[in-house]
Amino acid sequence: AESTVHEVDVVVIGAGQAGLSAAYHLRRRGFEPYRGFVVLDADSAPGGAWAHRSPSLRMATVHGFHDLPDAELPEPDPDAPAREVVPGYFAAYEARHALPVVRPVRVRAVTSLPDGRLRIASDAGTWVARALINATGTWTRPFLPHYPGHFAGRQLHYADYRGPESFAGQRVVVVGGGASAIQVLSELGAVAETVWVTRSEPVVHEGPFTPEFGRAAVARVEERVRLGLPVRSVVSVTGLGPSVAYRRAQALGVLQRRPMFDRLTEHGVAWDDRELPVDAIVWATGFRAETTHLAPLGLREAGGGIRVEGTRAAADPRIHLVGYGPSASTIGANRAGRAAVNEIVKLLGDPAERTV
Ligand code: FAD
Repeated sequence: AESTVHEVDVVVIGAGQAGLSAAYHLRRRGFEPYRGFVVLDADSAPGGAWAHRSPSLRMATVHGFHDLPDAELPEPDPDAPAREVVPGYFAAYEARHALPVVRPVRVRAVTSLPDGRLRIASDAGTWVARALINATGTWTRPFLPHYPGHFAGRQLHYADYRGPESFAGQRVVVVGGGASAIQVLSELGAVAETVWVTRSEPVVHEGPFTPEFGRAAVARVEERVRLGLPVRSVVSVTGLGPSVAYRRAQALGVLQRRPMFDRLTEHGVAWDDRELPVDAIVWATGFRAETTHLAPLGLREAGGGIRVEGTRAAADPRIHLVGYGPSASTIGANRAGRAAVNEIVKLLGDPAERTV
């Protein structure tokens, strides 16, 4: 397959919310499926990160889901698992808009060609494009902080958490101050003894989530990205909202937060000389942006992040990052898809006006 080279105008990497939104707008602006653009997705079925989430995550406990452009998600059964509802909705969307998603295709490296185009090498062939929309999300890069010591019990990252059943009757430490920690606590709290630890005092936003509040939070994430700093989640600046999961955890009385432990021991965790034996540790410590395949382009700043202006990589106008930083939410991903396509039309010329 390495020998096949497909030439297109635009390659989108990733078929989650951000990639599908970008694909929708590429079509709408006149890029031809397959000949003009493709979406390369590493997964073998539709759904993006949603297909990999815990079966215990129900639509009622999802943090808030925004529709794809021009396609309302029918009112879901609140008890239905998000990992089934959202992938089903994405699959129907891909089919209805005849989006050229090619899968499974894992992109390994993007490099610059001497003729000014981009070479996108994958485990299933090579594409050459004039512009790239990166929509690879964060799910494939779970972040685990390092703490000294060794724990002999069960440890897992939130990405591998599959519901509370296997923890019944145990004492479990849940690490992290974000929405995923709250989800885990709201589930484990009913069957296990939980110990919640966070690095800093969690910020709880009790008031209504107004558009002004949302915009201010997004602006703070944007500011970091503009400076080329590592991206933070939107929740890290909004604080925890009064979600269904939060209310549930509150009702279970599992939100007594303790400061972060300073080391792991064979049978538990320890603060100074105080050791607490535990059966398991769930690290709900977040994710990083999946951009490893972009490394050959040298876009990363000294601060560790890729500096973007809107969605465009500041160092390379051919590259857009959607679902990145301020646009890493279902609503942000939607807007970013449209913004990226508008700029790509300016860069490449309007396909509707090009003579064949
Ligand atoms: P994804 O859905 O992750 O899609 C990325 C796609 O890219 C995947 O299909 C993957 O296979 C593919 N891919 C990755 N690497 C490669 C590669 N090298 N080559 C080819 N394909 C590749 N937002 C909300 O609005 N509501 C929520 O409740 C919510 N909960 C969240 C919970 C967690 C734990 C996290 C991490 C995020 C959550 N978000 C939530 C924010 C989330 O970022 C967005 O909602 C959105 O779903 C992300 O879409 P995406 O398209 O950017 O990424």
